[in-house]
Amino acid sequence: MKAVAVLPGSHEVKVIEQEAPRISEPDQVALRMLDIGICGTDKEICSFEYGTPPPGEDHLVIGHESVAEVVGVGTAVERFRLGDLVVPSVRRPCPHPGCLACRSEHQDFCYTGDFTERGIKEAHGYMTEYVVDHERYMNVVPPGLREIAVLAEPLTIAEKALSQIFWIMQRRPPWLDPQTPIQERGRGLSALVLGVGPVGLLGAMTLATAGFTTYVYSREVPPNPRIDLVSAIGATYVSSQTVTFPHLAAQMGNIDLIYEAVGHSHFALQALQVLGTNGVFVLTGVPGLQAFIEADPAHLMRNMVLKNQVLLGTVNAGPEAFAAALRDLDAFRRRWPAVVRTLIAGRYPPEQAADLILGRPTGIKTVIAFDAPP
Ligand SMILES: [Zn+2]
Ligand SMILES: [Zn+2]
Repeated sequence: MKAVAVLPGSHEVKVIEQEAPRISEPDQVALRMLDIGICGTDKEICSFEYGTPPPGEDHLVIGHESVAEVVGVGTAVERFRLGDLVVPSVRRPCPHPGCLACRSEHQDFCYTGDFTERGIKEAHGYMTEYVVDHERYMNVVPPGLREIAVLAEPLTIAEKALSQIFWIMQRRPPWLDPQTPIQERGRGLSALVLGVGPVGLLGAMTLATAGFTTYVYSREVPPNPRIDLVSAIGATYVSSQTVTFPHLAAQMGNIDLIYEAVGHSHFALQALQVLGTNGVFVLTGVPGLQAFIEADPAHLMRNMVLKNQVLLGTVNAGPEAFAAALRDLDAFRRRWPAVVRTLIAGRYPPEQAADLILGRPTGIKTVIAFDAPP
């Protein structure tokens, strides 16, 4: 069967042939991979800045955003039958008995750093025709979500962040009544999303669905389909080319939540200065090396203390976040059917994967499908 792999030794990204995996343990499922999304992490891996093959191997099969069909089940599998759709999670627990996070199935909070991640760190990924994995790492996909379920994994970033801060929000008098249902947790609050990549746009959709008055701020200027998407979900787009952070803050009023999805440290630092009283700042982007800048940490620290601010970093994601992502994808589909149809930019065969990953992204999410016409 075919797979798309990086070979760090020879600096290659190519389609390789390898043997199809077989079920060897009773709790395993065999999957036929349907869609595999590509993202900035794949770009870093294919630029050899990130990513590690499994120990003793010279290549890493990439791909971590996916949806698959169950085509085989071990004798002890309980939750799945042939033909079911699943989104596999990415991170697998570290082996250390003392890691409380991994031992309680919360490997997204692993203490040791010795976790593996399929398609990223020491475990092969999903950009291949067939995969075998344990049932417990699979998330059930309702059949109506076949076309967009590949977005569940990138959406878990927003879902995990929101579930983390919901707990904080409920304990802040100006924010939420503890009785507020989770679907309305953003009611009366404002949110600012930084960036219009897939993580930013999916974050904006999640925040708007949760009732936040949502702004999206990025350097793009109209006409741009990503800006059109922001308008179509009822959010307000503001370009950093024409409006500065202080002017944006004046327009928005108290900024209750900033959701950073750019991965640029200077930009994030500027945004932190306009976070409102009792505000939460969520960092999701992983910056590469950037130039040193002058900053005013005393001003930032003063704000954080005197305004009760929270700074939260978050990396995806556990089973609850996957379940929430799949629920929200269904909500998006009902609420904005025309928008949802534009989220998948196209499905391409694996032979085009390297060019698509390393080239400039077009559309929102580009997908590799092994049955796509060449
Ligand atoms: Zn990704
Ligand atoms: Zn661990």
